[in-house]
Formats: sequence, structure tokens, C-alpha cells
Amino acid sequence: MKILQGKGVSQGIAFGKVKFFRRDEVSVKRGRVEDADAELVRYLNAKRAALAQLDELYTRTLSEAGKQEAEIFSVHRMMIEDPDFNSSVERIIRRQNINAEYAVAMTSRNFAEMFSIIEDDFMRERVADVQDVSNRLVRCLMNKQASQQDNRGKCVVCADDFSPSETAQMDRDSVVSLCTSRGSATSHTAILARTLGIPAVVGLRDEFYEICDGDEIIVDGGSGLLYVDPDEETKERMQRRQAEELLHRRRLNELRGRDNITRDGHRIGLYANIGGLEDIDAAILNDCGGIGLFRSEFLYLDSSEPPSEELQYGIYQQALSRMKGKRVIIRTLDIGADKQASCFILPREENPALGVRGIRFCFANPEVFRTQLRALLRASVHGRLGIMFPMITSLEEVHEIKCIISEIKSELDEKKIAYSNEIEIGVMIETPAAVMISDMLAQEVDFFSIGSNDLAQYALAADRLNPSLEQYHNARHTAVLRMIKIAAENAHANGAWIGICGEIGADEELTEAFLAMGVDELSVTPTSILPLREKVLSLDLSRKELILDAIGSVTANN
Ligand code: PEP
Ligand code: MG
Repeated sequence: MKILQGKGVSQGIAFGKVKFFRRDEVSVKRGRVEDADAELVRYLNAKRAALAQLDELYTRTLSEAGKQEAEIFSVHRMMIEDPDFNSSVERIIRRQNINAEYAVAMTSRNFAEMFSIIEDDFMRERVADVQDVSNRLVRCLMNKQASQQDNRGKCVVCADDFSPSETAQMDRDSVVSLCTSRGSATSHTAILARTLGIPAVVGLRDEFYEICDGDEIIVDGGSGLLYVDPDEETKERMQRRQAEELLHRRRLNELRGRDNITRDGHRIGLYANIGGLEDIDAAILNDCGGIGLFRSEFLYLDSSEPPSEELQYGIYQQALSRMKGKRVIIRTLDIGADKQASCFILPREENPALGVRGIRFCFANPEVFRTQLRALLRASVHGRLGIMFPMITSLEEVHEIKCIISEIKSELDEKKIAYSNEIEIGVMIETPAAVMISDMLAQEVDFFSIGSNDLAQYALAADRLNPSLEQYHNARHTAVLRMIKIAAENAHANGAWIGICGEIGADEELTEAFLAMGVDELSVTPTSILPLREKVLSLDLSRKELILDAIGSVTANN
């Protein structure tokens, strides 16, 4: 048995035989034509045929996988009808008296190059779409059909990556899992697999070449592990897990659309934590009530320059639009300590976790901060925005933030640029100082969000990154729970609401305690939403006082 490790992007366990995806390679030769007009007519006919195929694919995908999945074929339609694309094809045919296949391939290559240099994962993924559209047009010009794959039996279909039409044309009854050597969480492979609820592992890189056509394989889409030629013990273990998971998933899926309400009527919001637009599908799929933490620093981490105002505006605007009026809380840049960004040269610090991070970095780099705030304010008209600030330790910081926001608003007013008047302002409660002044902070802001990952680190003096301190970095420690309780009491007493966006929010053993404390919202990774809803629905808060007494408080006797 071989065990391979990739990135699990769609949960679940699948058993099957490896089937390598055979790609229809369309090789295009450059050829001279006598009559450019006739060649253009040939191109227009091929275009019509390609559009008809796309319409059929749209309709089929709409009924099998839903509107969101089918949408990609509307995008392909738009690409084929794009005036720039068509005038480029026409120009190449006429100027060079060259065949239409070659003109399409050249034009597509130019478009793909254009997309590939855009510093945006979503746009980069569109390179595969341009290639897909080009292959379709060329096949229509050559009167070739895309070949049907023989996927009889339970197939774990493997390829370097899949294009949208390749995934849409797969036989849904036999394909039990998808595995790729490339790919990311934003690739169509990942999105489609999640939507269809089949396990998928991407980014296997070199490990991918350990797999052969026909190999027996077990895919664990949660951990990203592949068991090739599994032994009997592994088969039995994974079969048991598969049966349990299937049953559980079925139960959880039935909870979509339900309220997060306890048996005795206490409600709580269940929101999603995301790192970028690529996570929004999963958030929606898992029926989130909103986005409770958009970690905006991910936009800065992998780029050589800080993202421009325009780029940020585009991303925030998309996030807000896609959440259709549900609350989206975007946290401003939280750089420093464990989150280093190559676009900023941060001086070495003795104690980076206690150093220039979060809001301190933003104050030290006002242009970076202002750029982000301008982008956020401009995007605010597209939905229900909350802006949240990390690593707050004093009231003065909040005053300073509010002062900067009103300056930016005045600048926007002068330029007649719109922003919403209903933006909520919140602070992360992730330092003991913030807890101790939470009564005062609550008077200044609309909401709190408990960053328990950092709060535990600072309250317990235990580096969250040091594996040998795991037993000390215990977010369930009474000290941390008391802090959350104090912050919740102070929030409510002063007109603010409170959520938790640290990992502890997904800890089902604490859900009852959080509800008892009056926590209004838990923001967790998307896949934790439905399990938490199941937990909330099972609870009854009649033991509330008992639980609160057990946690105690700093002002009580215990
Ligand atoms: C936290 O500290 O709990 C938190 C949510 O923020 P991050 O993990 O991004 O520091
Ligand atoms: Mg934090």
C-alpha cells in the first residue's frame, strides 16, 4: 500500500479504480487560405455550432448540478461572443490569409496570456476557460466531437487538472472522486466536487506520478490522503468511516435552511470564516448566515506588492454582492507575528507576537491602511459591510481609527464617491487589555469578535505556534472562558453585539456555554457550520445558570 498526500478540497471518502482522463488534444496547423471571406463564413458556422453546444451543456448542468455550476457555460458563451475576441480572429484571417483554426488558437493564446498575468487567483483560473473555449471552436471547425470517456465502474478520475466542460461532461453515476496534480481550492475541479458532494484531492504534485491507470484507490477528501492498493485493515477502517460520514452528511444536509435555535428558543448566528473569494462557495453551500471573518491579509501574503485600492475594491465588492445582503465582516490587514508578507519588509523583532502587528502595523503604515479603508468604504454600497480591527489594546486606538475613517469619508464626499452609512465597526477582542476595557470599547463600536487563538496566547503566555506548548495554549482554559464571559456582559450592557471568530467557536463542547453567555454569533470554517447547527438544535439552556456559575467570574467569590 502507498499513501500519498495532497490537498483535500471536498470532504468524504471514496473507493474506486484510477482512471486517467484522456484529453482530446486538438493540434492546430497553420495553413494558407485563398478566400478569406469564405474562411470567415466557416468560422461563423463553427461559432454557431459551439454556441449551440454550450447552450446544451448549460441546460444539462443546470438540471444536474444547479445554477451556480451551469453559470460557467454562460461565461464561455460570453467569451465566444466577445467583440475583441472576434475582431482578433477576423483580423488574423484577413491580414494573413490564414486558416480559422490557427486564428482562433492565436487569439486564445493572447487572451490566456493576458489573464495569466493578472494578480488575482480567480482571473488566473480563467486561463483554463479560454483554452476550453478555443478547443471547442477548433473542434467545431474540424467537425470533431469531444470523445466520450469510458468511465464504467466506480472511477476515481485523475488528471493534471480539469476544465469546466470536462467536468460537466463526466458521467456523474460512475465518477466517485476527482484527483489532480495541480489545482487549488478555486479550481473548477474543487468547486464542482464540493457542489456535487464527491471527495476531491488536488495539488498532489509529484506524488501524482505514483498512481497508475487501474490502481485500486481510496480517497479521503478531508485529510487529502490517497491510499493506493490499500491493505485489508485500511479498507475496513475506511469503509466504516465512509458509512458513518455518509449517514452524518445526509443528516446535516437536511439542516440547510433551518434556524440556529435551541429547543427552548435561544438563537445564535452561524457565520463563516474565509480567507478570500475562493471560500465563498463553501460558505454559501454550508448555509452560513454571513461572513464573520474575512482575513484580508491573505490578499497581501503572496504578492510582491500590496494590493491596489482597485484590486481590493473589486474583491470586497464581489464578496458583498455574492453574500446578497447578508453581513460580511472584513478584518483589516492583520500582518506581523505568524503572518509575514513578502510585500512588506518587516524588521526582525525579538518577540514578534508582542510586536508591530495588526492595528499597530496599520498605524505605522498609514498609506497601506488608508488604501484598504478607502477600498472597503467604496465597496460598502454593494452589501452589508462590517469592518473589524485586529489586536486592539486601547480606547485611543479606536478613537484614532474612527478619526481616520471620518477623514476618508470626507475625501470620498468631496469626490462624490458613494459609501454606505450603515457600515458596522467592530474590534477583535484578542488581548487581555481589550477584555479589561471591553465596557469602554463597547460604547465606541457596534460589535466585538473574540479572537480566541490570540486571546489564549496572550492570556496564557503560550505561543500559539510552538507545538511543545500545545497543552498550555488551551483556549478552553477557565481564564479564557471567563474573559469571553466578561466581554459578552460588557458588550450587551453597552449596546454592542458579540461573536467569536477564533477556532474555539467550532468547539461543540463549548456551544452550550457560549449560548449561556449570550454570544450572538459564532464564525467558523464553512464545513463546521452544519455540525454546529445540529448541536444548537439539540440544546436546551435550562442549565444556563449552572454553566455560568461553573465558569465563574473575576468579580465573584470563586
Ligand atoms: C484569533 O486570533 O482567534 C483570530 C481569529 O485571528 P487569527 O487567527 O487570524 O490571528
Ligand atoms: Mg488573531
